[in-house]
Amino acid sequence: MRADLAVKNGRVVLPGEGVVAADLAVRDGKIAGVLNPGQALEADQTIDAGGLTVFPGLVDPHTHLTMGDSPEPYLTETRTAAIGGVTTVLTYLFQSTPYADLFEQDRDQVGSQSYVDVGFHFGAVTDEQRAELDRYADEYGVTSYKFFMSFRGDEGQYLGIEGVDDGLMYDFFSDIARKFDGVVATHPENIEIVWRLRPRLMQDGREDLKAWMESRPDFVEAENIARALRIARQTGVTLYIPHLSCALGLEEVRRFRDRYDGYYVETCPHYLTHVSDDGTDTLAKVNPPLRTEEDREALWEGLADGSIQTVGSDHVPRRSSHKEGGIWKASAGFPGLATLLPVLLSEGHHRRGLPLARIAELTSENPARIYGLYPKKGAIRVGSDADLTLVDLDLERQVRAEALGSYCDFSLYEGWKLKGWPVTTILRGDVIYGDGSLKGKPGWGRYLHRAKVGA
Ligand SMILES: [Zn+2]
Repeated sequence: MRADLAVKNGRVVLPGEGVVAADLAVRDGKIAGVLNPGQALEADQTIDAGGLTVFPGLVDPHTHLTMGDSPEPYLTETRTAAIGGVTTVLTYLFQSTPYADLFEQDRDQVGSQSYVDVGFHFGAVTDEQRAELDRYADEYGVTSYKFFMSFRGDEGQYLGIEGVDDGLMYDFFSDIARKFDGVVATHPENIEIVWRLRPRLMQDGREDLKAWMESRPDFVEAENIARALRIARQTGVTLYIPHLSCALGLEEVRRFRDRYDGYYVETCPHYLTHVSDDGTDTLAKVNPPLRTEEDREALWEGLADGSIQTVGSDHVPRRSSHKEGGIWKASAGFPGLATLLPVLLSEGHHRRGLPLARIAELTSENPARIYGLYPKKGAIRVGSDADLTLVDLDLERQVRAEALGSYCDFSLYEGWKLKGWPVTTILRGDVIYGDGSLKGKPGWGRYLHRAKVGA
C-alpha cells in the first residue's frame, strides 16, 4: 500500500476493543489502512512508533476556552490541547443574546488561530435563543447545549445571564429533542440551598477550600441531577450530565438507568485526583467543588464499571492572579487540557489498572459518538480522520505549568510526577506536536460543523 504517512511498529488502542500491534497508513488526512505489522506499506513520511502506544486523538467534550482571560484563547488553549494529545476540543459559548455575531467571530478565530479542530456548544439561556435552535443546527452545525440549572436570580450575572428556571429548562429540553434530537448538558447545583449555606460559612469566618465544598454539598448536585433526569425522560431529550463530582450523584445516575437510557455521564480529572481537604488552596476552587476521598474512589469505580461514559477537562484558561482574594472571591475553574491524558494514564492505568481501551473510549470514542462526530473522530479505522496521539506509557515527568503551552501560569498538578505522556500528536495526518515542541501552525485547526443526529 502507498500512503502519505505511515505510523509503524506501534501498539494501537482500539476504543472498547483492545490493544493490537498494527501499522497505520494515512492518505489525504484520513486513515487509509490498519495493517498487520510488516505488511507492505510505503509512504512519503514514516514515523517509527516502536515502543509507543497509539491512541485515537482525544476529543475533549468540555472546555471553556473563552471564559477565562486569555486574549487569544483559540491560539493559546488549542496549543496546550495539541501538547496534551487532544486533537478535538468542544468548547462552550455563552451569552444572553442570540448567537449569530458571537458564532461568526469565534468560528473565524478558530479558522485563523487554532492548532486543533474545534466545535461549539451553546449556552441555553433565553427564549429568544430557543426560537433560533433550528438555525443554529442547520447553519452553524451546533447541536448541543448547556443549561445552567444554578443560574437563578443574579447567579449568572457575571456572564450577563438573567435568571433561569425549570420551565425554561423544560422548553429547551422539549425543543432540542423534537427539532434535531440534540444533546443538552445541565450544570446541576441547587443554588437556592447554596444561598442559605454560603453566608453562614462566611459568617463563621471560614476561608478554606473545604468551606467551598460545604457551601455546595453533594446532595445539592445529586438533587439537581435527579430533577434533570426526570425532565429528560419526560421530554425524550438526550441528557449529558457533566462534571460529576460525588458518590451521591453517581448513585442517582445508576438508580435511574433502568427507567431511561437517554443520558450520559462525564467526570473530570480533578475529581479523580484532588479532594477539598488535601491542602490544595484556592487555585482548586471549582464548581461543583472538589469532594472527599470516598467520592474520588467512587468515581474511579464509575469509570471502570461503565456508569460514567466520558472524561472532560472543564478547562478554563485563568491566571493565578484571578484566583486570589480568598475562597469566596476567587474565580472558579482552572486549566486541564494538557494533563487530561497523563492523569488518566498515571492515576488510572498504572495505579488502578484501568484498561487502555477503556481510556480511549472515555476520551475519544464516547465523546465523539455523543456529540455527533463519530466515526470522523474518535476512531482508528479506515475513513476516519487521521487524528493520532502517540504515547510513551513509561515516560515519567514532573508537571510544570510553563511547559504545557497554555495561557495559564499554574496547574493543579504542578510538581506531580505523572507516568505516561503523549510524545507525538497528529491532526488529520499532520504532526502538530513532536520532539517536545509544537510543529503545527495556528489556523491548521478547523471549525467542526456537526450534522444533526440521524441526518
Ligand atoms: Zn458546569
